[in-house]
Amino acid sequence: LTERFSKIFNKLSNQGKLTEKNIKETLREVEQALLEADVALSVVQNFTSSISKSCIGKSIEKSFTPGQELIKIVKQELIEILGKENNHLNLSTQNPSVIMIVGLQGHGKTTSIVKLGKMLKNTKNKKILLVSTDIYRPAAIKQLEVLSKKAKIDFYPSNIDQKPIQIVTKALEFAALKLYDILLIDTAGRLHTDKYMIDEVTNIQKKIQPIETLLVIDAMVGQDAINIVNNFNTNMSITGFIITKTDSDTRAGIALSMRFITKKPIKFISHGESLNEFEIFHPNRIVNRILGMGDMLSLIENIKNKINKENIKKFTHTIKSQNKFSYNDLLVQIQQIKKIGNVTKILNKLPKTGTIFKNIQYNINEQLLFKMETIIHSMTIEERKKPELIKGLRKRRIAKGSGISIQEINSLLKQFNNIKMMVNTIKKGGISKMMKGINK
Ligand code: GDP
Ligand code: MG
Repeated sequence: LTERFSKIFNKLSNQGKLTEKNIKETLREVEQALLEADVALSVVQNFTSSISKSCIGKSIEKSFTPGQELIKIVKQELIEILGKENNHLNLSTQNPSVIMIVGLQGHGKTTSIVKLGKMLKNTKNKKILLVSTDIYRPAAIKQLEVLSKKAKIDFYPSNIDQKPIQIVTKALEFAALKLYDILLIDTAGRLHTDKYMIDEVTNIQKKIQPIETLLVIDAMVGQDAINIVNNFNTNMSITGFIITKTDSDTRAGIALSMRFITKKPIKFISHGESLNEFEIFHPNRIVNRILGMGDMLSLIENIKNKINKENIKKFTHTIKSQNKFSYNDLLVQIQQIKKIGNVTKILNKLPKTGTIFKNIQYNINEQLLFKMETIIHSMTIEERKKPELIKGLRKRRIAKGSGISIQEINSLLKQFNNIKMMVNTIKKGGISKMMKGINK
């Protein structure tokens, strides 16, 4: 997927304008990319036709290439669908507000409800009570108890001999009596949606009338999410979603489908097993994730600022005259590469950055560059021009000056050739090409 977007990006950055023809071509690839991100087909088709409309006739901002412009529009449109604002919980009822969590077994209901409780307690200073109606697995109630303790939230005990309705009625009475702000109800799930489970949670919902009923969906289920969501959503009133396990290697395209089909908001995202790995849903982040390219635009800006045109000219010029490649040239290059290196550090942090950056990531070994730099600084001008001069005594002097051992200098000098090769790689299609593209 990422590769696809990089390709799209590369293709477009070599063209002058966003024409009807290249929009069409590109959108076909965008469609494919979204399908790979597990976005449902109907959603994808709807999406690309709406994009197509917003693109045609749109003038391109001067600072953008057509590729950037298109990606910008794609992002805006995705964010639009996912809801521009974060969707907060509705807690404006009389206390206690009741929030109920539903979903299939193993999707992360129990974990999420505790995380949510912890978040509400810590950020909104709410007095929280947790209760479980999962009477089918004794371990499930225990699990909630253990996690509650860990999160320092009050737990209302229940047991497998009680009926779910009984449990919630009593818990609500208790919560009201003890002036809790929020009662969080964890429910039982099953492996597949079935009538019995839906009936049970629907009955609880009717009895208790929670202000929020959140459906938990595991991001890893992919396309199947739509069936699960529809099953719950048509049988009971769902007020929003929690998407879990977004830390797994999924593109979370289901978020887009869920929102598009149900028009219900995604309220929270869970991205790990630890209790803090939970946050309010930000459309922006999930869009970057679906597109798999991090915040490409701001990164490109960043690279642009770090490397000015003049330097690129020098850089490519030196590469071209490689036979005369000396330590002085290398020094200039190292300084350039280090600047890019800072950017690749950011890149590396992002989810799966595009192939256009792979060359650089692969080639930059910062420590090596730093040592090379130090060694070169300890060389005389003569030595920098003629690497073959560096033997015995000179080597010892450089070692002393740079504080790097002779053995290491030997091995690093050998790497000089490797560096040359690295520069070669860059010349062939890596950095210089990329930089030319973004500095148009
Ligand atoms: P429930 O059956 O729906 O209540 O699901 P649980 O809350 O018991 O979670 C099932 C498993 O998924 C547990 O092992 C959790 O630790 C794990 N889990 C839940 N949320 C996440 C998440 O966001 N990321 C990861 N990696 N694991 C999660
Ligand atoms: Mg559970």
